[in-house]
Amino acid sequence: MSLQDELIARIHSNGPISIADYMAECLFHPTYGYYTTHEPFGTAGDFITAPEISQMFGELIGLALAQAWIDQGSPTSFTLAELGPGRGTLMVDALRATAQVPGFHDAAQIVLVEASARLQEIQAHSLSGYNVSFTADAETLPDAPLYFVANEFFDALPVRQFVRTRTQWRERLVGLSDSGLSFGLGPEGRQPSLDHRLDDTQEGDIVETSPQMAPICATLTSRIARFGGIGLAIDYGDWRSLGDTLQAMEKHSFADVLSSAGWADLTAHVDFETLAASAVCAHSRLTTQGMFLERLGITDRARALAHNLKGEALDRHIAAHRRLTHPEEMGNLFKALGFFPKGMAPPPGLDV
Ligand code: SAH
Repeated sequence: MSLQDELIARIHSNGPISIADYMAECLFHPTYGYYTTHEPFGTAGDFITAPEISQMFGELIGLALAQAWIDQGSPTSFTLAELGPGRGTLMVDALRATAQVPGFHDAAQIVLVEASARLQEIQAHSLSGYNVSFTADAETLPDAPLYFVANEFFDALPVRQFVRTRTQWRERLVGLSDSGLSFGLGPEGRQPSLDHRLDDTQEGDIVETSPQMAPICATLTSRIARFGGIGLAIDYGDWRSLGDTLQAMEKHSFADVLSSAGWADLTAHVDFETLAASAVCAHSRLTTQGMFLERLGITDRARALAHNLKGEALDRHIAAHRRLTHPEEMGNLFKALGFFPKGMAPPPGLDV
């Protein structure tokens, strides 16, 4: 049996499922889910993320978190959290870069929020030199100042899709056709959470919502509001998303969303407006990744690292810098949104 067969049997008996349910099964099914079974990251995997492109990414994020910790009076005990840490590369680079910041490591309780038990094992291995704890659920983070980063985490949360009719919406569903899984539409109805989108959409437009995003963001930002800290969410997407952004990636190429269940990574662009609106603390302006990394000093760091490199390694390093920051590469598509306590300064590299 494959995940595809299992889903076909389930839809056959119970009827069509939402795209969010489909995405959740594809990513986290206990036997066949993509994150349950695959090693997705890096050149040998299905996609490459910023921390895997260059150590500079994690280093600069680590230093930004440490600077905010200093700016907020260096609380003596705080949570240093990462959501969806993948292979753990970002946190390893962040911790190496902040090792010299007096008191930072001693005060940090490192928590990795990761839903995949298999990835937790890989992260534990990457971070074997550190005292790290794991949780699958951000709800269980301690009541303490929270300094967190989430890189390409929110794009992995399942989305529902709605197609605009003249005055209401129809949900896009995954059902069956003669050839297997196929997209269809549910009945027309009002979607109160999408009332505001009737103003900027037309009949036939698709909008996406992420049921888990707001509760997770509220959980994280309520700690920042109560105890202090900052948060950095970095992802692809835009202020207000429009259109079908669901995509499947396999071996660095786009795959068909419905024929790759459990085999390909499934993501959707992040609607940063909804993310910001779910925050209980203050949030920054949405800033492109290129601008954010420039402000954090990536060019100086790139020059310093370049001194010790030559030949192919130097070429790779220059290409990595360009890939992270150039507007035609990840620089504009990826954005950073920061969270911080009301009345305090926004995170380094971001403004209001
Ligand atoms: N941040 C990493 C990996 C991004 S892939 C990087 O930049 O390389 C998405 C990560 O989020 C994976 O580790 C995946 O298992 C995790 N993840 C996805 N949904 C999750 C959820 N609901 N709760 C916790 N972790 C989740």
